[in-house]
Amino acid sequence: MSSSAAPLLSHIIGGKPTAPAEGKRRSNINPGTGELVSSVAIDDVAAADRAVAAAAAAFPKWSGTPVGDRIQYLFRYKFLLEQHVDELAELIVQEHGKTTGEAIGSVRRGIDCIEHACGAPILMMGRTLPQIAVSSSFCRTEDDGGVGIDSSVDRLPIGVCVGVTPFNFPMMVPLWMWPMAVACGNTFVLKPSERDPMSAVRAMELAHEAGFPEGVLNLVHGGVEVVDRLITHEDVRAVSFVGSTRAGEAIYTKGCASGKRVQCMCGAKNYSIIMPDANREAAIDGVFGSAFGNTGQRCLAGSVVVAVGEAAGWLVPALVERAERMTVGRGCDKHTQMGPLQDEDSRSRVLKYIESGIEEGAELLVDGRRAPMPDAGCFVGATIFDRTSPEMRIVREEIFGPVLSILRAASLDDAVSMVNRSEYGNMSVIFTDSGHAAHRFETTVQAGMIGVNVGVPAPMAAFPFAGWKRSFFGDLHTNGEDGVRFFTKSRVTVRRWI
Ligand code: NAD
Repeated sequence: MSSSAAPLLSHIIGGKPTAPAEGKRRSNINPGTGELVSSVAIDDVAAADRAVAAAAAAFPKWSGTPVGDRIQYLFRYKFLLEQHVDELAELIVQEHGKTTGEAIGSVRRGIDCIEHACGAPILMMGRTLPQIAVSSSFCRTEDDGGVGIDSSVDRLPIGVCVGVTPFNFPMMVPLWMWPMAVACGNTFVLKPSERDPMSAVRAMELAHEAGFPEGVLNLVHGGVEVVDRLITHEDVRAVSFVGSTRAGEAIYTKGCASGKRVQCMCGAKNYSIIMPDANREAAIDGVFGSAFGNTGQRCLAGSVVVAVGEAAGWLVPALVERAERMTVGRGCDKHTQMGPLQDEDSRSRVLKYIESGIEEGAELLVDGRRAPMPDAGCFVGATIFDRTSPEMRIVREEIFGPVLSILRAASLDDAVSMVNRSEYGNMSVIFTDSGHAAHRFETTVQAGMIGVNVGVPAPMAAFPFAGWKRSFFGDLHTNGEDGVRFFTKSRVTVRRWI
């Protein structure tokens, strides 16, 4: 099919839809049907410049608007989003392939971020210490009788901020960034994933319906050329990125070299440790949901399970049984338990990993290539490998699809050392009834987000979200208090009245 069959999405610059310039385009399909749904400009670098200029022009007035007034727009936006949950979820199902339930969940998690950002008047508050010194000890002038020196630190907006986001949560991840950025007084340019941008565009249109002034929020489509322009632009102060480790490392390096503040939440390979004493039902549910939810396309997907001691005896057959009876289908069908991969490239990458697991000698217990599934679309069924080893590519590398690898360990310490060999450190969880085992896990495992008897330990917006090792580049994580600090700069005032 030609790209002209799919609607070309506009940028949103200065509050208005803006037609892309002539240039390279990318067409996107509905991965559940194979039908074209959208196309976007890939190399419209001039649009990136215009979006930054609009954000820079809006900054003086917006940053001078009282924070209590700024968050009124977010309150209105939150209520608007709540009225549009189903519409947004439908777009996500169409362009990404998630099940309707998963899509609704992701919109709700995005709304959680807006609620958190509405707390900006308290979250941004500075601190004061009166009488931190007396003037005579501070600057030796004539004796003024010890007039007090007061000190305070304020948190101030930084300027134009840029967000670059991935395909797997196309509407939610932008909301990790811009609500807090603008609540703190910054203006923003979003570069959504070029693979499924429709829900991010609709969410940005709704923000303008909520009344955000022109230029406070801008959206520009594109690929690497556009990102490179945004992250090195002289009027941009900060870059928040979520996506693969390969892109994140490049963006961190270039952005920092251009003097930007940069945070990059990146790729992952996450391990779930199952102890023999774990509550069986909770562990089976937790591992299964974590590995196959969102078709494994989640930075918090638990794609490796480490069964300790006798746990494998009850865990492995239960996982196999559930994987074999899983319904794979279009996200919009109500019986579907797992939707398609997001595009054809993702599907062929996952199929290659399945072949690599077989070649490396892992035991293929459930072959997702043979699952009953629709003919058209980018489907692969739930796949389980047993008897894997930490050296295998299917255990080391991020597959980003519905492939679960099972490792076996003799003890908790062995299991943790397998986890800690990973180059990534996004998340890890343990299922156990033992407080002692949970405590040992918590104090020895190397990951930025960990869980005890929880399959997907996704922090709510009031807590920071990011990993360790090659899952993260930067200092301040996204969301939580870190998010407020990322989008503000501190200034200390030392004050004396004579
Ligand atoms: P991706 O890195 O391919 O793309 C992410 C964004 O970066 C897109 O907007 C894309 O246009 C841009 N981009 C891609 N390559 C680039 C480059 N070389 N230079 C500049 N910009 C570039 O990621 P994806 O495939 O869309 O998303 C999946 C990845 O995101 C997985 O690795 C997943 O683990 C990760 N992810 C991480 C988190 C987290 O919090 N750590 C959350 C969600 C997804």
